[in-house]
Amino acid sequence: MQDLAAWTERSKSISPHSQIFINGEFTTAASGKTFESIFPAENRVIAQIAAGDVEDVNRAVTSASQAFESGIWRDASPRVKKSVMLKWADLIRDHQEELALLETLDVGKPISDSMSVDSASLARVIQWYGETIDKTYDEIAPTPKSAIALVTREPLGVVGAIVPWNYPMIISSWKIGPALAMGNSIVVKPAENSSLSILLIARLGIEAGLPPGVLNVVPGLGAEAGQALARHMGVAKLAFTGSGPTGRKMMQYAAESNLKQVSLELGGKSPQIVLKDCVDLDAAAQSIAWGIYYNSGQTCNAGSRLIVEKEIKAELFSKIEKFLENFKVGNPLDPTTQMGPLVSKPQRDRVNSYLDLIGVDGEQIVFGGKKTYGDDLFMMPTLIDNVKHNSRLSQDEIFGPVLVAIDARDEAHAIELANGTEYGLAASVWTNNVGKAHRIAKQLRAGTVWINTFDALDVITPFGGFKSSGSGRDKSLHALSAYSQLKTTWIDLS
Ligand code: NAD
Repeated sequence: MQDLAAWTERSKSISPHSQIFINGEFTTAASGKTFESIFPAENRVIAQIAAGDVEDVNRAVTSASQAFESGIWRDASPRVKKSVMLKWADLIRDHQEELALLETLDVGKPISDSMSVDSASLARVIQWYGETIDKTYDEIAPTPKSAIALVTREPLGVVGAIVPWNYPMIISSWKIGPALAMGNSIVVKPAENSSLSILLIARLGIEAGLPPGVLNVVPGLGAEAGQALARHMGVAKLAFTGSGPTGRKMMQYAAESNLKQVSLELGGKSPQIVLKDCVDLDAAAQSIAWGIYYNSGQTCNAGSRLIVEKEIKAELFSKIEKFLENFKVGNPLDPTTQMGPLVSKPQRDRVNSYLDLIGVDGEQIVFGGKKTYGDDLFMMPTLIDNVKHNSRLSQDEIFGPVLVAIDARDEAHAIELANGTEYGLAASVWTNNVGKAHRIAKQLRAGTVWINTFDALDVITPFGGFKSSGSGRDKSLHALSAYSQLKTTWIDLS
């Protein structure tokens, strides 16, 4: 493992791809416009990214559509498609350090996470979906003897994927993996803050044998490149991950264009419930801290609400605080760093605006709570006590290292509080009673419920939200249905 000096040195000599990737080649934006990619820890410009717009999106969708219609990928034999995906996963592993560095420079994620979580997970997801290609079967319906009815899954055509900046590689792979496994072509629009890793991933796909046009990447602003893709008449499906307000626009764009399918992975305000019969408060404290402070709290399923029975609250707080004594906040290029900066000034200012609410209605800081200004995007882990359930601190997705604590009277009250937001992405419960754990899990309105753990995730299980946290699921074999449509072929045998 390299040290801070080595990563810093490498970060200064890196020369990332920064152009639009269409039909297997890098190209400038039709307008010639660019925007900056900034390393948030140092406010350092890493690259000038080509700013795609309507014309570039048109070119990318045309290329994807031609690749799809030619059948070069769609109709390739399952063995061929699988071997390309597996080779691609290998190439991603060969470039793990480079990809991790790009991700850290783009979004400020600690390099140890970019290495062990983001780039590793990307390779696993591409490999996993590659493996599904020659292992999934279609169906034959139970018709009378005089007929055979085949129920087959067919690709949709051109998929548009619009992704956020908090987990650029991982979330892109959740769309690209199943979309390509089902034989579609895809155009990815990365977030403004995070275009670098996906551009290298796309090039590696071509090196692995993906035919040109099957995977295109158009960086650009949301309102320009994003909107053009979402409204495009040649896009059959829009796979979106991002905020609720933008998610609503996706549905509007689909309705106003060609009624393309839309899947939405949106925000959350996930509760971490700790009941007084939890036997291992040390484990709970550690898990709760990671659940909120990982990636500086910029995680859709961040466990941002601590719902705790009063009797154990003081002890739990002190254990969380103790765990954080050795929690290293600092330069994300230092492999020992556990929490880096926030991604950008607008994001930091958003978090500051929530810190302004502390004390308005009796809220108290347990630790942290300090705003930062200017170029300083490093915020400290924060815990706020005495937060009212209906306050904005409890209800809004803050998307920073801010945990709010709400007292629960008993099990029933904890469930009521946990379900009492517009969101339903994830939840956790800490209890030593297995019956109680199942009972509560059944009542929680969330796409994922963790018992005595948090953030246990893998490609093998579906991920997505109830209520305003979205519709549709990423990951697992279920995601294949989201990138295909069923066809019935009824054959008369009489
Ligand atoms: P965002 O909604 O601002 O942007 C997401 C993407 O949409 C970006 O690529 C952006 O450029 C694009 N976009 C913005 N405006 C657009 C428009 N008018 N038309 C088309 N595209 C547009 O979200 P963000 O700030 O990048 O990401 C943070 C949000 O994402 C949080 O709410 C977080 O909870 C959510 N998120 C959800 C999941 C999940 O799986 N549920 C995962 C990660 C992040």
